Amino acid sequence: MGIRLVRQDTHYAWVRVGAGENWHSFVRHCIAQGWAGVENLSLIPGTVGAAPMQNIGAYGVEVREVIEHVEALDRASGQARQFTNEACAFGYRESYFKNEGREQYIITHVMFRLAKQAQFRLEYGAIRETLAQKGFPPAPLSLQAVSETVSEIRRRKLPDPTEVGNGGSFF
Ligand SMILES: Cc1cc2nc3c(=O)[nH]c(=O)nc-3n(C[C@H](O)[C@H](O)[C@H](O)COP(=O)(O)OP(=O)(O)OC[C@H]3O[C@@H](n4cnc5c(N)ncnc54)[C@H](O)[C@@H]3O)c2cc1C
Repeated sequence: MGIRLVRQDTHYAWVRVGAGENWHSFVRHCIAQGWAGVENLSLIPGTVGAAPMQNIGAYGVEVREVIEHVEALDRASGQARQFTNEACAFGYRESYFKNEGREQYIITHVMFRLAKQAQFRLEYGAIRETLAQKGFPPAPLSLQAVSETVSEIRRRKLPDPTEVGNGGSFF
């Protein structure tokens, strides 16, 4: 567990997050801090540690875009190992951990590099249209507004498991 700001410069914040953190809680934390890059990934169920496994993605953004490195334990040797973004071999819902490294590593932390200046990604699905209905623009766009809009669209499209049970989703 744990969300720690490791360093920052004028453009980016490097944030190290424990694998056991809930993904959406982490997204909300980023929004509260003004760290951009994961707002389109709002409301994806699961943990931070599982996110690199299949390179979670939604609404035009993939988590690989904000991952600096992944820390993992080798299950055979118990040794800690750091995987650069490149070594994670991310693809569409793919990664090294899902292929060659399958069953071999336990992801313990993910280091994110998040932008301090948001580059909003609104081209996918109904984001722009839903924002317009809420008065954006002319109202100035925010990370919060994008996150709420993505959450609203997802709630419209996906059943609420507290009302309609479902078997999850797998790739
Ligand atoms: C309603 C619904 C909507 C969804 N929407 C999306 C979506 O928009 N985009 C998307 O990409 N996915 C989506 N998913 C899929 C799911 O949210 C992701 O795959 C998520 O990352 C799963 O997280 P989890 O913690 O439940 O992992 P689990 O399902 O428990 O595990 C997934 C895999 O990762 C492995 N794993 C988990 N944690 C670790 C770790 N720390 N170290 C090593 N291996 C690990 C597990 O062994 C397993 O193989 C959706 C699922 C549901 C049910």
